[in-house]
Amino acid sequence: MRYQLLSVLGLSLFCLFFSTPSFAQHATCGFDHLYEKRYQEDAEFRAEVKKFNKLVVEKKTSQLISSGVVYTIPVVVHVLHTGQDIGTGANISDDQIMSAIDNMNDAFRAVNYPNTSDAEIEFCLASLAPDCSATTGIIRTDATGTGNYENIGITGGSDPNLAVNEVDVKNLSRWPTDQYYNIWIVTEIDANDGGNGIQGYSYVPILENNDKDGTVMLYNAFGYDPDGSLGYELKFYTGENETIKHETGHYLNLQHTFIGDSNGTDCPPASTDMNGDFCEDTEAHKRTGHDCPSGPLSLNDPCLCPVGQINDCTGEVFGPVIHNFMDYSVFTCMDRFSDDQIARMRTVLEGNRSSLITSLGCSDPASLIGAPVAASCTPSSTEPTENTNMGIWNVSLNTIDYSSGATYSDNISYTALPDGNGGGGDGYVNTCAGTELNIGGTYTINVTTGAANPEIVTYYIDYNNDGDFEDADEYLGFVADASNGNPNYPEHLLDFTIPGTAVADTPLRLRVISDYLNNFNDHLGDPCYSPQYGQVEDYTVKLASCDLTLSNISILPSIAQGETEMAWTIKIQELKNVATTGTITVVLPKDPKYSFVWDETATSIGPTTVNNSIWSLDTSNDSFYIWTTEESILGNNSTTLGFVVSYNPGSTTGVANYTASIVSGSGGENNFLNNIDAESLSFFSN
Ligand SMILES: [Zn+2]
Repeated sequence: MRYQLLSVLGLSLFCLFFSTPSFAQHATCGFDHLYEKRYQEDAEFRAEVKKFNKLVVEKKTSQLISSGVVYTIPVVVHVLHTGQDIGTGANISDDQIMSAIDNMNDAFRAVNYPNTSDAEIEFCLASLAPDCSATTGIIRTDATGTGNYENIGITGGSDPNLAVNEVDVKNLSRWPTDQYYNIWIVTEIDANDGGNGIQGYSYVPILENNDKDGTVMLYNAFGYDPDGSLGYELKFYTGENETIKHETGHYLNLQHTFIGDSNGTDCPPASTDMNGDFCEDTEAHKRTGHDCPSGPLSLNDPCLCPVGQINDCTGEVFGPVIHNFMDYSVFTCMDRFSDDQIARMRTVLEGNRSSLITSLGCSDPASLIGAPVAASCTPSSTEPTENTNMGIWNVSLNTIDYSSGATYSDNISYTALPDGNGGGGDGYVNTCAGTELNIGGTYTINVTTGAANPEIVTYYIDYNNDGDFEDADEYLGFVADASNGNPNYPEHLLDFTIPGTAVADTPLRLRVISDYLNNFNDHLGDPCYSPQYGQVEDYTVKLASCDLTLSNISILPSIAQGETEMAWTIKIQELKNVATTGTITVVLPKDPKYSFVWDETATSIGPTTVNNSIWSLDTSNDSFYIWTTEESILGNNSTTLGFVVSYNPGSTTGVANYTASIVSGSGGENNFLNNIDAESLSFFSN
């Protein structure tokens, strides 16, 4: 379930210049200048911005608010200290970090923030590292010696007197930007000694820059302790934790509410103008928060929020915009995002940043298969590019149904990191997704690839668990795209049988490699081949020499997106090497959000083959659609039913819950390990 729209990441520098205690000078920020300069000069950037804004308008804010679907973003916090003990100075404590994340969640879920709508966006400290091991989501690195970090901190070019070190510093610790929201905690920004000036900065998710993507935060601006009672390393004007909420707004494609105000001297243009913020519910205004008539600022200074003052851009008393997280208003003033802003953020999570919400970064490591031994080689794409749109889109095998992100953009544009993080290089993804299979079982694996160009996919499993794919039977085979790339996401289906010699009960590495059809001629069977345009993805399988007397049914719903309708399919699988017999029932609650017409003769729905003719649909129940079949499912086999869903007028996104069950006693088998299974599926409209 993902979008290919706008699948690359952005460049514009945003920075948040918080108030200086004395307000002696007006704040400046590189954002307006850099954004507008790039917008004027870079036609591709301009096109992507327009495309995104059109998408938001089409979706309508009303559809995106209170959708009932919560998106969770895995976060990794990289603490870049200079040798301090944990909890001292820039090496801030776990508690301080968690207070910041908790407060972000409160603000984005409207908990203790009664003036904002619930954005239904949450943040979790990562529990699963890129190598599939357990993690706290907090990585501490001594950055001394990199780009003069110990003297100037990080600098991205705002100060022409400082040598830019941003990428070198971020290279010390970065996790794949398509799977994690990277937050770097730094000692200084532009040699500000952790003091006034820029407190943090971030990047919009438009156009490539994965080596910078994420947010930089001063160590003493990241944490929530409004009254200073917890002893965190915070300044008296940063304890509300407003900077990270503001920067995360940028990260999710929000602009300043005052964008286009010419450094606070002009009233900005209309929201829908290129120079506006594209949110019609944020009134035109000049940046606020730096006009406090009396200084110095203190915690209880009453003059900070210009409530009741006249907005000289409207001639009327200020509306809610002065409380917006994306204004430059001071900390006691900020408490909300507008509904249009929330719609923009949710739209980007359904588009450019959709790989974050399908990331496994916050999975319980114990719930996964585990990590296989290290691979002897990790090939990477030599020329991944948006222009060819080649690479792996989705991989499905048994319970695996995984889309790592857009095709070409996985892990693009940075090379392997010294500590092994980052997945090893361009276009390589170690997904951590896994499934349990049976020795002797026959399975079908499928990889869908990018549209427009034909690709070959090769398949490998490290059956003897020695880290390579060179041993007998470990090359499963290849499948060429016979469609010549014409349909969206052509399939590459391969049947394979697991040999009796395979290692059981141990995580084993599964590898898939894709590349342009014509490139593969000399490389079929080479598991270390670095594709030119395609990608390499690794998964995990664990093999059981299982008890073959017990059935284990599984249900697996999926969606293929369309512009106005969606292809829904439900796959019922027998996971073990024994037939499932009896009456099999699938239940789907009725929901006024959508409707469909059942086609009992259909053999395919969207891109998926279905067996609708063996299923009977009963619509007479008030609450449920009920499908039944008396057909057996052979061991390690499956049957699929499907239908095309249309949204009903006025409906929003939602969740569909499915249940599959076997009614025992009606067939030859009465002994079930698991005769009922349930899954749910989040869906959304285009
Ligand atoms: Zn900003």
